[in-house]
Amino acid sequence: MGKIYCPMYTRVLFIVFLVVFAANTAFSQLNKSYFFPADTAVNENIPEPGSLCGHKYGWWHFSHDQLANYMVNLAGESDRVTIREYGRTHENRPLYLLAITSPENHQRLDEIRQAHLDYLHGRSTDYVDQDMPVIIWLGYSVHGNESSAGNASLLTAYYLASSRSDEVEHTLDNAVILVDPVLNPDGFSRAANWSNMHTHRVQTGDRRDRQFREDWPGGRTNHYWFDLNRDWMPAQHPESKARLKAYHHWKPHVVTDHHEMGSNSTFFFQPGEPERVNPRTPEENYGLTQQLGRFHARALDDIGSLYFSKEGFDDFYYGKGSTYPDGNASIGILFEQSRMMGQMLEGDHGKSTFARAIRNHFTVSLSTIRGALSLKEKLNDYQRSFYAKIPRKVGDDEVKGYVFGAEHNPAKLHHFLELMHHHQIKVNRLKEDVQIQDESFSPRSSYLVSADQPQYRFIKSLFEKRTHFEDSIFYDISTWTMPLAFNLDYAAIESSGKVSRLKGERVKFSEPAPGKIIGGESEVGYLLHGSHYNLYRIIHKIQQKDLVVKAASNSFTIPVSSGKVSFKPGAIFVHSRRQELSPDQIYTCLQEIAKKEGVNFYGVETALTPKGSDLGSWSMDPLEERRILMVAGEGTSSYSAGEIWHLLDHRFRIPVVMIKPNQLERTNLFDFNTLILPDGWYDWDEEVKQQLDTWLRQGGVLVGLEGANDWLAKHKLIHLEKKARPEMDSTHVLPYNERGNKRRAQSISGVILKGSIDPTHPINYGIRGKTMPLFKDNNEIYKKSGSPYDTPVLIGEDPLMSGYLSDENRQRIKNTPYCHLTQRGGGTIISFTADPNFRAFWYGTNKLFMNAVFFGGMVR
Ligand SMILES: [Zn+2]
Repeated sequence: MGKIYCPMYTRVLFIVFLVVFAANTAFSQLNKSYFFPADTAVNENIPEPGSLCGHKYGWWHFSHDQLANYMVNLAGESDRVTIREYGRTHENRPLYLLAITSPENHQRLDEIRQAHLDYLHGRSTDYVDQDMPVIIWLGYSVHGNESSAGNASLLTAYYLASSRSDEVEHTLDNAVILVDPVLNPDGFSRAANWSNMHTHRVQTGDRRDRQFREDWPGGRTNHYWFDLNRDWMPAQHPESKARLKAYHHWKPHVVTDHHEMGSNSTFFFQPGEPERVNPRTPEENYGLTQQLGRFHARALDDIGSLYFSKEGFDDFYYGKGSTYPDGNASIGILFEQSRMMGQMLEGDHGKSTFARAIRNHFTVSLSTIRGALSLKEKLNDYQRSFYAKIPRKVGDDEVKGYVFGAEHNPAKLHHFLELMHHHQIKVNRLKEDVQIQDESFSPRSSYLVSADQPQYRFIKSLFEKRTHFEDSIFYDISTWTMPLAFNLDYAAIESSGKVSRLKGERVKFSEPAPGKIIGGESEVGYLLHGSHYNLYRIIHKIQQKDLVVKAASNSFTIPVSSGKVSFKPGAIFVHSRRQELSPDQIYTCLQEIAKKEGVNFYGVETALTPKGSDLGSWSMDPLEERRILMVAGEGTSSYSAGEIWHLLDHRFRIPVVMIKPNQLERTNLFDFNTLILPDGWYDWDEEVKQQLDTWLRQGGVLVGLEGANDWLAKHKLIHLEKKARPEMDSTHVLPYNERGNKRRAQSISGVILKGSIDPTHPINYGIRGKTMPLFKDNNEIYKKSGSPYDTPVLIGEDPLMSGYLSDENRQRIKNTPYCHLTQRGGGTIISFTADPNFRAFWYGTNKLFMNAVFFGGMVR
C-alpha cells in the first residue's frame, strides 16, 4: 500500500487503533488462578475468552455468535488448533469441530484418523505399533440452556491452546482432542439472551427470579423445539445428521456430553444406574467408564466439588449423546452440573455460581483427557474387540438379516434408507421376490440388511422387538424398533444362505428417483395412490395452482397404459377439465410434481372403471384447501407443538399459523378450517368453548392431542373418560427408599402397541392392512365410547409389540381408543390419546395425524 502518508488514512488508522485498544482493555482478564490448575503459565499471544467481545468471562453468558467468533480466532492464532464447520443448524448457525493437538500431529491428522479406523476394524496394526494419539471428543450444551457447558468449552480450548505446562505439551503429543463447543447453537443463543437480559447488578440468587425462569419454549431445544439429546438415533435434524457424519469420521475412544440437571444438585458423572445399560453395549464399557470415573472423582476432590455417580441417569436409549457412542465402539460419558441460568443461585447445597459451574465442566474435561491417556491401551483393545467379536455374535444369533419394504411409498423408504446411511448400516437391494412369515417382498420396493457387518449391534437395536427387560424403569423410552415406527413391511431372515441368495447390489444413498406420469397426457385426469408419504405436500402443491383435488372413499380398478391398476380409499384424482388451468397446463404441472416428489401419477383413458366406483362418482370428494391454525405457547407442550410445526412446515412445506393460547379468544376462527391443539394444560373458559362449538358446527376440524382432550372432555365437547390408574399392590411392600421405583414401574415409558384399523376410514387412508404399530409414551388410558366408527384406531386385544408394559397396564390398555372422533354438527373433533408425531421418526402414525388434518372434514 503506497498511500501510507495520506493524512486522512492515518487518522482513520488512529481511530481504528483507539477502538481496538478500548475493546481489548474493556474486558477483565481471566481469573486463571481460579479456573486453571496451579502454576499454569500461558502463551500470552493466545487471546483469552472474552477478549474479542469485551465480556467478563464467567459472568456474561456467551452468545453462540461470540463463542463461534472466538473459536475461529483461536484457530487462527494457535498452531495447536484447527477448526472445521461440519454443518449448519435450522437457523443457519455454524456447527464447529475443533481439533486440538501438537503442531506435529496436525501435519498428519488424517493419517492418524485413518490408522485409528484401520486398527479398530482389524485392517492394520500401524496405529498401535506407532503409538499414535488417543482420540477424545468433548461435546457441550446439546441442551442450549445448560450454558455452563458451552461456556466451559471456551476455557478448555483456550487452556489447551495456551498452556505451557509439561502435562499439556505431553497431552497434545499423545492425544487428538476434538471439541464440539455447542451442539445446539440455536437454543444456546436463546438461553444466553435470556440470562443476559435479566442480569442484575445486585444479585439475589433467589430461584424465583425471572432470570431462572425462561419463557416458553426456553433454550433447551432446537429451532423446532426438539430435544437434540434424543435425536442421535432418529437423526431427523440437520444438527444430528451432520454430527453423526463427523462422529463416524473419527469414532473417538471417548465421547463426553456436558449438561446441567436440577438446580438443587451437585455434579454427576457416569457410570449411571448399573442395571439400566443397553443390553447391546458390551459389558466392558461399564468397567472402563468406572475407571475413567476415578479420574473425575480425584479432580473434583481437588477443587472441593461434591459429586455422585451410579444413580439417577441411565445408558439405555441410543438416541442420547452419551449412549449413542456406547453402541458404536466409543465410551460415552455423561456429565451433569447443577443448573445455572444466571450468575449466582442459592440452593440446598449452598451458593453456586456460574463460574464454579464452568470450572466443574472444565475440570472434568481435563480429567477425561487424563483418564483416556492413561487407559489408552485398554481403550484400543476395547474398540478393536467391539468389532472383532461381531462375526461370532452373528454366528450365534438366530437372525442373519432383515428384509423390509413399502409399496407405493418411495418417500418413506427414502427416509428409512437415509437413517441407515447416517448410522453407517450397509443396505442391499433385494434380488428376487420372496415370501417370509406371510409377508411378500418385491425387489421393486424392498431392501435387505445383512446382520454380518460392523454395525451388527446397532442394527439389532434398531430392528429387534424386545419385551423382556432386566429392569422396569426407564429414564427415557423402552423401545424404538424402527421398521415398526415407519410402519414398513419387514421380516427377519434366519439363514445365512438365504441372506446371500437374496442380497442384490449395495444401495448408494441418494435422492429418490424422479417420478413420471404413466400413460402420458390424459383428457380425463390423473390418479395417485394414497399411500405416498408426501401425499399432503403434493395435494397442497396442486391446490396452490387453484386446481380441484378429489379423494376417493371407495376402492376401484381402472385400465391405464401399463395395465389395470387397483386403487384404495384415499387415492387422489385430478380432473383434466373444468379447472382453472387448461389440460395441457395441468399435465405440465403434475409432471413437474411427479418428477420432484418421486411419485408416479397415472393418466387415465376413461372415467369408467371395470370394478368399483367410476371417477365421477359421489365417492370422489373434492378436498377443501387446509387453512391451519395451531395453538403454541405457555400451557402447551413445546415438544408436541414443535413436532407438528416441524412436520407441517419443514417436512411438508404446508403453512400453519401459530398463536399463543391467550390469543384464541380474539382470533376469528372462521379464517381457518383446521385447529390443532397440541398436548397441553389448557384452561380456557366457557366463552372459548362456545366460540369453538359455533365454529365446529359450521364444519371446523379440530385435532386434539393427549392433554388437550382433558379440556375438551371437561367442557363436554367430547365424551372421553379416563380409566383409573392401577392400584398399588399392598401385599408386596418395598423398603421405604425404593418406594418411588414401584410407582415408576407402572408408568408407560414409550411402548409399541398393535392397533386395529379400518383402512376405509378417512383417518386411515393410505395405510395397508388392518393393523399398524402405535407408540404410547403417556399414562392416560381412556374408555372406549360411541359407535365403532368413532374409534378408527383401536389399541388391540393383545397389543404389546415391543417395550416394557406392566401386567396391570397390559390389562388396562387393551381395546381402548388411540384415536377417537366426535361429530359436532358439520364439524369433527379428532382426538389422539398418544403422540402420533413422536420425535419426528414415527412415520407410520404421523400419517394418521396428517390424515386427520387433510381428511378429517370428510368424516360424516
Ligand atoms: Zn441436559
